[in-house]
Amino acid sequence: MEHRVRKVVIAGGGTAGWTVAAALGKVLGTLLDVTLVESDDIGTVGVGEATIPTMRTFHHLLGIDERDFMRETNATFKLGIAFENWGEVGDRYIHSFGTVGRGNWMGDFQNLWLEAREKGFAGEFGEYCFELQAAEAGRFYTGEKAPTSYAFHLDATAYGQFLRRFSEQYGVRRQEGKIATVDLDGESGDIAALVLESGERIEGDLFIDCTGFRGLLIEDALKTGYEDWTHWLPTDSALAVQTQSVAEPLTYTRAMAHDAGWQWRIPLQHRVGNGLVFCSEYLSDDAARDRLAGNIEGEQLTEPRMIRYRTGRRKSMWTRNCVALGLSSGFIEPLESTSIHLIQIGITRLLKCFPFGGISEPTRDHFNELMIKELECIRDFIVLHYKATERDDSPFWQRCRDMAIPDSLAHRIELFRQSALVHPDPHDLFRVDSWLQVMMGQRMMPQAWHRMGALMTDDQLRGTLVRMKENITRAVGQMPTHQAFIERYCANGSTNDAVMQRA
Ligand SMILES: Cc1cc2nc3c(=O)[nH]c(=O)nc-3n(C[C@H](O)[C@H](O)[C@H](O)COP(=O)(O)OP(=O)(O)OC[C@H]3O[C@@H](n4cnc5c(N)ncnc54)[C@H](O)[C@@H]3O)c2cc1C
Repeated sequence: MEHRVRKVVIAGGGTAGWTVAAALGKVLGTLLDVTLVESDDIGTVGVGEATIPTMRTFHHLLGIDERDFMRETNATFKLGIAFENWGEVGDRYIHSFGTVGRGNWMGDFQNLWLEAREKGFAGEFGEYCFELQAAEAGRFYTGEKAPTSYAFHLDATAYGQFLRRFSEQYGVRRQEGKIATVDLDGESGDIAALVLESGERIEGDLFIDCTGFRGLLIEDALKTGYEDWTHWLPTDSALAVQTQSVAEPLTYTRAMAHDAGWQWRIPLQHRVGNGLVFCSEYLSDDAARDRLAGNIEGEQLTEPRMIRYRTGRRKSMWTRNCVALGLSSGFIEPLESTSIHLIQIGITRLLKCFPFGGISEPTRDHFNELMIKELECIRDFIVLHYKATERDDSPFWQRCRDMAIPDSLAHRIELFRQSALVHPDPHDLFRVDSWLQVMMGQRMMPQAWHRMGALMTDDQLRGTLVRMKENITRAVGQMPTHQAFIERYCANGSTNDAVMQRA
C-alpha cells in the first residue's frame, strides 16, 4: 500500500510535543518518519505537574515502566484534590479518584446515603470512599492486593526529558531550530513546510502543532479561529513558583480558593510546585505576588513566573493537514488537572484514525467532534466548581455565583437538585462519583432522591454503611505511609506486595 501520509513533523517540544513523539515513535514508528522541531531559545510553559488516572492507561499503552517514570520525574502518587474555601470560606472537601460507597442497579450510592442522612445516622459522604480515606491518612499502596485508583504529581521539565529519551529510542529525530515561517502550498492551502531561521525547510505530510498558546501553525498560519470561554471561566493569569519541601508529600493536590481565584500546591518527591491562579480584573499583579509570597511554605527555589492565558478552544483541533495538541489546541485552567489528559486522549484518537491513505474531511470531522465534546464536558465540570458556591465575600465570587452557565451544565445541576440523579454523558471524562463529590462538597444538596434506602429497615441501612466504613478503615490501616511506599517503590525492583509486607 502506498502510504500518502508518511512524514510527520511535530512543531514544539514541550509536554505535548514529546508525548506525541513518544506515541508515534513507539506505536507507528516502523511506518512513519517522525521529526520534532524545537528551539532551545524558546522555553516550555514549565508547569503542568498534576495528573489524573488516565495517565496510567496511556503509559501502559506505551509500555512505560512506572518505577522508571517515577524515579526520573521525582513523581509522587495522587489520590485526588483537596478543595479549600470553595463552597464557603472555611469549607474543605476532597474530590478523590475513587468510588464512593456502592449502589445497585436502581440507583447510585448517594440515594442510600441521603436516606441515612435524613434519618440521622450517615457519616460524611467521603467516609465511604477508600481512596479519599487513604489520602486523608497519608497512606498509599498499589498492587494486586488493592486496586487503588491513582494518578501522579510530576516534575514537568523532567517528564519532557524522560519522554524525549523514550522517543529517540524509537527513531524520532529531533531538529534544533527556531521556526521562522510556515510555508503553505499555493494550491491546496495545506502546510508544505516549516522554515527555520537557519533557512532550512522541514517538509512533511502531516504537521502536529505543539507550539504552545500561540499556535504557530494552527492559528498564525492556518487562521483556524478561537472560541472564547472567559465568560464562564474568568481567570486569565497564573503566577508559578517552586519551593523546598517542608514535610512528607501529601497524596493530593491542594486547591485553595482565594477572593479572586485559587492557589495550587503540588507535592513532588524533591520539591513543591505552587501557583496562584487569578482573574486580573479583580487582582493586580503586585497583589498576586504578595499573596503568593504570603502563602507558600519552604524556601523559594525559583523566581515567580507569570503566565497569561485565555480560556477556550481552537474552533477545530484538526485543520487541513495540521493537528493541534496541548496548549495550541485550547486551554481550560488547571483546576482538575485535565490538560495532559487532553493531550494523551488526542494522541490515542489520532492513532486510531491515523490518515495513512491521505487526509479526508470525514476523518477530520470525526476527530474534531470527539475532541470538542470531550472538552465541553470537562469545561462544564470546571465551571461547576465556580458556580456551586455560597461565597459572597468578593466581586469575583459574586460574579461566579450569578453568572449564566452552559445549558448542558444547567440541566445537570437542575437534575441533581430535584432528584439526586447525575446524568452521565457518553463523552464525560469525569464519572458520576466525581460530579457527586464536587456538587455535595460545594453545598449542593438534592431536594429528593430515590427511596431505595427506604426498602431496607433502619438497622439494615445503618449496618450497610457501618460495614462499608469498617472495611475501608481496616484496609487503609494496613497500608504503608505514602513516603515509605515511594522510597521502596522507586528505590529498587521489589514487587508491590513485598513493599506491603515490609511496611
Ligand atoms: C498555569 C498552568 C498550570 C497548569 N497545570 C497543569 C496541571 O496541573 N496538569 C495538567 O495536566 N496540565 C496543566 N497545565 C497544562 C500543561 O502545562 C500543558 O498542557 C503542557 O505543559 C503542554 O504544553 P505544550 O507542550 O502544549 O506547550 P509548551 O510547554 O509551551 O511548549 C511549546 C513548545 O513549542 C516550542 N516552540 C514555540 N514556538 C517555537 C518556534 N517558533 N520554533 C521552534 N519551537 C517553538 C517551544 O520551544 C516549546 O518546546 C497547566 C498550564 C498552565 C498554563
